[in-house]
Amino acid sequence: MKPLKEDSSHKDQSSENSQQSKPAKKTARKNKSNKAWDLSQFQVPEIEGKTRFHDFDLSLPLMRGIADVGFEYCSPIQAQSLPYTLQRRDMVGKAQTGTGKTAAFLITIIEDLLRNPIDEERFAGETRALIIAPTRELAIQIADDATALCKYTDLNVHTLVGGMDYSKQQTRLHNELNDILVATPGRLLDFCGNEDVHLDLVEVMVIDEADRMLDMGFIPQVRRIINQTPKKAFRQTLLFSATFTPQVMTLMEQWTQDPVTIEIEPESAATDTVDQFIYLTEAQDKYALLYNILKQEDVESAIVFANRRDQCRHLQESLQSHGFKVGLLSGEIAQNKRVSTLNAFKKGDLNVLVATDVAGRGIHIDGISHVINFTLPEEPEDYIHRIGRTGRAGKSGTSISFACEDDSFNLIPIQELLGNSVPCQQPPEELLLDAPKMTKKSSPRTGSGKRPPQNSRR
Ligand code: AMP
Repeated sequence: MKPLKEDSSHKDQSSENSQQSKPAKKTARKNKSNKAWDLSQFQVPEIEGKTRFHDFDLSLPLMRGIADVGFEYCSPIQAQSLPYTLQRRDMVGKAQTGTGKTAAFLITIIEDLLRNPIDEERFAGETRALIIAPTRELAIQIADDATALCKYTDLNVHTLVGGMDYSKQQTRLHNELNDILVATPGRLLDFCGNEDVHLDLVEVMVIDEADRMLDMGFIPQVRRIINQTPKKAFRQTLLFSATFTPQVMTLMEQWTQDPVTIEIEPESAATDTVDQFIYLTEAQDKYALLYNILKQEDVESAIVFANRRDQCRHLQESLQSHGFKVGLLSGEIAQNKRVSTLNAFKKGDLNVLVATDVAGRGIHIDGISHVINFTLPEEPEDYIHRIGRTGRAGKSGTSISFACEDDSFNLIPIQELLGNSVPCQQPPEELLLDAPKMTKKSSPRTGSGKRPPQNSRR
């Protein structure tokens, strides 16, 4: 078991970056009332084979947050990990979005912070728990989930992601204690470099989607971040990855200490609830097919995936001009616009989202009825990620993928991953008739914010 971590003096020693000067300002806490609530208002019957959150003796304010978000029984990753992580064991989890991994690590963090309040003076920018995620969308969603679960605690959640107002994030950091910090690597390093954030007192650290961090070339940045936190014997580290490649396993060895390993099969629960279709078509017919599918009555809300930004933009413009309420999520869209698009989609003001893999990854909006793969993904795992956007939270969903002469070679690895369980078929004739043509392509967008340094294709 690790040493308890309230004593900041030993943590300072253990940190590789303990020389930083701290802002001299003590910051204030909000006071949240927890009156008039107890577990009698959150009754979940015991069911054999299921784990309840009640079974972990969690703090009342956290249980109230869990009740509010509507969770009753633990998902498999939560049931398997919490017994260890609540004891401060390190953990490596093979799990993707859709498994409930976010709540697994958030509940661990929140319970740890509540059980170990800090009475000593704390300073602005000192973070107790750090979560790093590869994309802005994912970081924002984790922070939203954390804020919901922390609703009845006095813990503050901060989000540091690129593309959003730096000075706003900075002002909040200066004025409010920083309990849980969710960040993308680049923006976090900017804040650390300016001494607005101090990581030498981090007690729990989460590295989410480690395989994606590798793909996106973020590992040197993540390494720099981890080097600013206490050494691994003095922090709890939880690392998640959808795949355990040799490279990911090397990182696990470097960054965790005696971790418990938990493997959850790739979104099997989610894909069981998704009806999958693969339509063989010609490239020139894809838009008609898409248009007619979206016109069908059972399509309440849909995400359309394409591989490239320009394809996404062209699709969004065409669908919009043909009467759909469509949002665009891709790397070329400014972050604040992406957030407002997601909110409009959640509210039902938009009923179609067109997205690239990176921008669409990690979006967990319940109630999406259809996922349409306008182009087949190059990485078979992205197929699983894409279709996992539907069929969530106990509902069923439909995924329809188009394979044409240009991308059908991507089918083989996808079929292998799926165990050849989804037959290819010709689309019904009526889905190819009476549709308008795609509009003319507009010129590429320019000047819409800074060009992202990594993975600019998406
Ligand atoms: P994640 O894998 O973290 O992206 O979570 C997938 C979805 O499952 C999110 O919409 C969560 O709100 C939801 N979720 C997580 N844990 C539970 C639970 N124990 N019960 C019901 N829904 C959950």
